[in-house]
Order: sequence, then structure tokens, then C-alpha cells
Amino acid sequence: MTIWHKILNFILPPRCVICGKILPEDKGLCDTCIREIEFLKSPVCHRCGQPLGEVAAEDNVHLLCGQCLQNKRKPFRLSRSAFAYDDFSKKLILDFKFYDHTELASLLAKMMFVAGNEIFKSGVDVIIPVPLHYTRLIWRKYNQSSLLGKELSELTGIEVNNSVLRKIRRTKSQVECKGFARLKNLQGAFGVKNGQLIKGKRVLLIDDVLTTGSTLKECTQVLKHAGAKSVDWLTVARTSI
Ligand SMILES: [Zn+2]
Ligand SMILES: [Zn+2]
Repeated sequence: MTIWHKILNFILPPRCVICGKILPEDKGLCDTCIREIEFLKSPVCHRCGQPLGEVAAEDNVHLLCGQCLQNKRKPFRLSRSAFAYDDFSKKLILDFKFYDHTELASLLAKMMFVAGNEIFKSGVDVIIPVPLHYTRLIWRKYNQSSLLGKELSELTGIEVNNSVLRKIRRTKSQVECKGFARLKNLQGAFGVKNGQLIKGKRVLLIDDVLTTGSTLKECTQVLKHAGAKSVDWLTVARTSI
């Protein structure tokens, strides 16, 4: 820690973004609040990461949820999320995404790293964060998914690429759209530049929250069209879908 950081921490000590308690280090959350988070603990569906509840899990057996057993065609190879998107974690995500609490990136990326264990074991060649349109990036100053990508890359040693996948068209916020309109809103919104960089590669697509999956699906389609061998999804949180 630089002397400037020490002075700054003395004047403005880092606080927990949820409860406001002063923290010994700038990690964003206190231990009490971390314990309040509903982590998606195993056993989870090997394919989509949905928690399976109380089932006897044997070692080395890949359990699947009912949905994945019935429907083998999923856009992703594997999908995982660190915790449930509920009223408690919503504040955390919003603070990270919109209110400059970028100090949370390191902690959230560590949680993603643990949740994505099976994905990393299966092999990943490149991490690609879901991009923002440049006009939104100017307004927001940073892309929360890129920050997570940088941290995950440092944890895993896997390269992160922020330029291949691009948001080429501005879209309405997905929250404003319902059902089919969500898919339509995103049609043609993403594009790939220098596609040869991902040809034949196993891509890990990362984002903050997985809700209906429309954004990740659209990005996956574009990446596969450009020649990606497989696409995995890893997010910080997910709603129960
Ligand atoms: Zn707290
Ligand atoms: Zn499943």
C-alpha cells in the first residue's frame, strides 16, 4: 500500500457497501455481510449450474437438472454463477455496476473463480466480458464485466479479450422489455471484430447477472458464428430461472 493510500484510508476509511461498517482493507464487504450472501452451493446441475437441492452426490458423477436432461441443446457448454440474485445481493451488484464501487471487483471475481471451478477444469482459452456500447461506457466510466475479466485473468492466468466482442448498436435496458421483446431488442446488437482471434477457441463469457440469459445467448451466437469452439457462461449472480 502506498503512503498516499494509507493517508486516504485514514481520512476516508473503506466501508462495507451494505452495512457501512469500517473495514480493515478495501475489499468492499464486511465478513458479516459476506455470510448473508446466498451462494449457489453444490450439488448443482453440471450443465447449467442450477442448485439441485438435497440429492446424494457421488464423486465423479455429473448430475443434471430435469431441464438439462430433457433439453440437450443449450447455447452454452457449461454455465455457473456464484450466488443468487435476491434483494440482498441486488444492492451489492447495483453498487458495483452503477455507483463506482469498483473495489468490489476483486472479491466478486474470487467468488466467480470458485463457482467456475468445473469450467476452468474443462479448459478455457480466452475470457470475454459482455461489452457495453461505447456511448454507455462514456456515461458509466467503466464496464463492470471488464473489471471482473481483468481480475479473473489474474487469478487464472487465462488471457482476457475486451475487443473481439463488441456492442455495435445501442439497446433499451433489458429490464424495460418483456419476453420476446427482450430477444428482439438484442438482435444484431453485438458483433465480432478480428474473429480469427477466437477461431477454434474455448471462450468463457462473463457478466454480472444472469436473468433470462437473452444477452448471453445473443453474444454466444455471435461468437460461435465467428468460429468459437465452445462458449461457457460465468456470472456473479443469477435469478432462479
Ligand atoms: Zn457489512
Ligand atoms: Zn441444468
